[in-house]
Amino acid sequence: QQKTRTTFATSSKLRAGYALEWSTNAKFNKLVLDKYMCLPTPDCKCQVKYIWIDGTGENLRGKTRTLDFVPSCYEEVPKWSYDGSSCFQAHGEDTDIFLIPVAMYKDPFRRGNNKLVLCETYDKDLQPTSTNHRAACADAVRKICKHEPQFGLEQEYQLMDADHRPLGWPAMRGEPEVTGLCYCGVGSNNVVGRDIVEAHYRACLYAGLDIAGSNAEVTYGQWEFQIGVSDGIKGPDDLWMGRFILNRMAEEFGVWISYHPKLFPNWNGAGCHTNFSTKEMRDDGGLKVIEECICKLSKRHKEHMKRYDPKCGEYNKLRLTGLHETSSMDVFTHAVGNRSSSVRIHRETVAKKKGYFEDRRPSSNCDPYAVCDAIVRTCYLDEC
Ligand code: ADP
Ligand code: MN
Ligand code: MN
Ligand code: MN
Ligand code: MN
Repeated sequence: QQKTRTTFATSSKLRAGYALEWSTNAKFNKLVLDKYMCLPTPDCKCQVKYIWIDGTGENLRGKTRTLDFVPSCYEEVPKWSYDGSSCFQAHGEDTDIFLIPVAMYKDPFRRGNNKLVLCETYDKDLQPTSTNHRAACADAVRKICKHEPQFGLEQEYQLMDADHRPLGWPAMRGEPEVTGLCYCGVGSNNVVGRDIVEAHYRACLYAGLDIAGSNAEVTYGQWEFQIGVSDGIKGPDDLWMGRFILNRMAEEFGVWISYHPKLFPNWNGAGCHTNFSTKEMRDDGGLKVIEECICKLSKRHKEHMKRYDPKCGEYNKLRLTGLHETSSMDVFTHAVGNRSSSVRIHRETVAKKKGYFEDRRPSSNCDPYAVCDAIVRTCYLDEC
């Protein structure tokens, strides 16, 4: 008996029409490209790629300009602007959106003196755009700087092929068998796409991200990378840059990355677990502070769920079902070591009576600025 072909949710309905040609990017002869990438360029000049979050709050955009000096920090990178009407961000005649550099990295694609620069977006009145959650997050983190906040972010994602199918899944025979062997697995029957994962890890190290690790995840073709432990805003900054590097790199491998939190009903979805600590939590007796924070979080569950995916909870409704190592969308729970709770405290933290906690609710396509902002405001600023 023939199984029916499974259909999948993808993050954008527009994409189907383009799908078949997507692997074209990977088919160009890279030796030809290399001939030009190896050309000597003037020492005093460099290419800077400005990168920003568009009006969807989920997608990244970027464009390049030549600078006639090599910046040594983001503060030296000039402000710029772009056409907001093409990024779901502006209407009418005055569509310029301003780009304010906030973090600079080495460019692992162009290498040399070239840079990737993460930017915040501001409208014509110099107010943060509606999807610029970094401004508020940076403000919250600054307000509690004496508590030395740190974040660790776990980005789960699914590799997808040019036909919009999960990479390596059998083409006409439905889903692969659930074997339970994919998580941290080894062997081609258990994992697929490791080339991309390895290349991404090295590129992130080269660029200067606080990348902490990577592992194969529970679903076939699903992986995770971790950022942190990072001081304050560098955590969410590096997560966004890690996503950019992954998406950009996937072009070269003929695949693309889905950050959709629930592609397949019968398999684990994808999250962006957010680990948080402050100096008091890491110091002796910090468990008490962690418990106080969890108590505050429990009272603001609904508000947090609105900020933990880009559609005010719509995405997480698909994922937080109580199955597949998730909690329920509607009730806040916390536990030691339990992966089916909203917030998990590690066994080690309990044993040592100090450490950090893990908020498991954010979806894989969340904006980590919105998430970290909410956690800091609820736990330390009594607002959210
Ligand atoms: P698991 O999959 O078991 O939840 P991971 O190893 O994938 O755990 O992720 C743990 C995350 O916790 C890492 O990103 C790490 O940087 C982060 N982390 C470790 N210590 C702290 C801390 N003191 N404060 C905040 N985050 C931390
Ligand atoms: Mn133009
Ligand atoms: Mn993890
Ligand atoms: Mn995971
Ligand atoms: Mn986790």
